[in-house]
Amino acid sequence: MDLVKIRNLNLKELSEHILAVGYPKFRAKQIFAWQNQKLVQSFNEMTNLPKSLIEYLNKNFILQTLTVQKKLTSKDGNTIKFLYKLSDDNLIESVIMKYNYGYSVCVSTQVGCKMGCKFCSSGADRFVRNLEPAEILEQVIIAQKLVQQRVGHMVLMGIGEPLDNFDNVVKFISLITNEDGLNISGRNISISTSGLVDKIYKLAELDLNCTLSVSLHAPNNELRSKLMPVNNRWNLEKLMQACRFYFRKTGRRISFEYIMINNLNDTTKQSNELAKLIKGYPTHVNLIPINSGSPTDFKPSTAKDIKTFKQNLEELGVNVTVRRTLGADINAACGQLKKKEVRR
Ligand code: SAH
Ligand code: SF4
Repeated sequence: MDLVKIRNLNLKELSEHILAVGYPKFRAKQIFAWQNQKLVQSFNEMTNLPKSLIEYLNKNFILQTLTVQKKLTSKDGNTIKFLYKLSDDNLIESVIMKYNYGYSVCVSTQVGCKMGCKFCSSGADRFVRNLEPAEILEQVIIAQKLVQQRVGHMVLMGIGEPLDNFDNVVKFISLITNEDGLNISGRNISISTSGLVDKIYKLAELDLNCTLSVSLHAPNNELRSKLMPVNNRWNLEKLMQACRFYFRKTGRRISFEYIMINNLNDTTKQSNELAKLIKGYPTHVNLIPINSGSPTDFKPSTAKDIKTFKQNLEELGVNVTVRRTLGADINAACGQLKKKEVRR
């Protein structure tokens, strides 16, 4: 019989297990605290539990399912990238970054990705499987344990399309925002999507209080369909409708990611199109020079072109920033470290 990944369970589910084998409910709370606050790596370290209960846990559950395969720290020490091996030997990665407001972790949600975006290393990978809530959660826990500081922010921007693993991602968010869990505020969580419109509506209804971050990358359907096959399923009009709905329902402004690719999506005409596309409600645009690890030969826009693009958006009333690229020396972008390791 396969052992149950204990971190897949919320406190209520864990309590039910514990009660069913004759222990009082408060034991579940203790176990939960060991898992999420004291961040122990084995049941044997849960020293306030009766020996018989520790034995029961060891026989039926597994606590840690990820092993660190590789860990790389950027020269400035502010970015650490992890390559993890899952219990079935698949590889995923996550990154922890230090900002002036504290630590933020970027987690993977799938092994590979089905979406096939032309510029993305993960898209070039075959989709293998969804990650379970426990496997997403452990990425945060291991990173937090390493830096010995509370992680207050989180982005679902590693390998995979979070909304294509909807139920597990929602459960993961409910676990991590739980006050008996890591207690990260929903406000500090960004869910990034390539634009699965049906799931954006579903997410809006759940009202998790998270930021929706939409990977736009092109201001018109013609170019976006070339870069992102998902646009053939849900075009920009449908995507924009869903974003407006998400804002109306949750009151959270939408964040748009726009990677800047030299001579492809970085002209003034395109910045005009972009401003028009998203006008009329609270949004924020993040311009990101494309990372050199892209599977195609796309080059990042020049600093001058990025500046002009940004200035034009600002003049048109768009709230826009250029994201500083963290940890470029350690292949910090999505999917790149894994690709290197697999090639080796
Ligand atoms: N699948 C989700 C989340 C994971 S990708 C999504 O697409 O939104 C996280 C972000 O990295 C996305 O905005 C994605 O477009 C971006 N990305 C992918 N390849 C990139 C590259 N080569 N350079 C810069 N950003 C990239
Ligand atoms: Fe998948 Fe996101 Fe990469 Fe597109 S950008 S292939 S959706 S991980």
